[in-house]
Amino acid sequence: MTNLILLGPPGVGKGTQAKLLIEKFGIPQISTGDILRAAVKEQTPMGVKAKGYMDAGALVPDAVVIGIVEERLAQADCQKGFILDGFPRTVAQADALGQVLSGLDRCVDHVISLAVDKAELLKRLTGRRACPKCGAVFHIDYAPPKVAGICDSCQTELFQREDDKEATILHRLAVYEEQTAPLIAYYESCGLLRSVNGLGTVDGVQTEILSAIQA
Ligand code: AMP
Repeated sequence: MTNLILLGPPGVGKGTQAKLLIEKFGIPQISTGDILRAAVKEQTPMGVKAKGYMDAGALVPDAVVIGIVEERLAQADCQKGFILDGFPRTVAQADALGQVLSGLDRCVDHVISLAVDKAELLKRLTGRRACPKCGAVFHIDYAPPKVAGICDSCQTELFQREDDKEATILHRLAVYEEQTAPLIAYYESCGLLRSVNGLGTVDGVQTEILSAIQA
């Protein structure tokens, strides 16, 4: 069983690395950002409430995201393990996660802390483009689609996430520093933290993550 948390600022590559880890371990990725975006798209009551926070680059209230994760962790496909991507983002969320897991007689095995410098984060986020239909993610410089602006898989027109506009990104990074970065010390103090440099190729970073988990 592998219960993992991917910790790091927006744009560091948590989602990309999580998708590779799914293949490797056969365990699901739980991305609170993806779950919230799906709720916004479907205009569920939760989505309607979350949209304003997300577009502004602010955090959705703890109670909402904790509820999402609690419900998701109880599902059968999480029995063999899980990869949390974008959760926890506050100390209150980390405390709640610990309680939910101990109620299930489980615990976090590893917290992978990914880091890259701010200039690189900005470049990665402002260049990110996503497919509204199939969810594929591209980058205008690092992973361009074959035809500019069009999804390789389903030929749908790509879009830029509202919260990937530069002013909102700067706010998201400030929110990260203030509310999420303290989790590095939080998980370090319980011996779970594994630090990995997020610069380099996707495969190179994946190899480092795997050796950090196995060390
Ligand atoms: P992400 O795709 O992980 O960058 O998340 C996009 C947005 O969803 C964030 O900027 C927040 O508004 C919201 N969100 C995602 N995960 C959380 C979380 N754990 N706590 C609070 N808000 C979250």
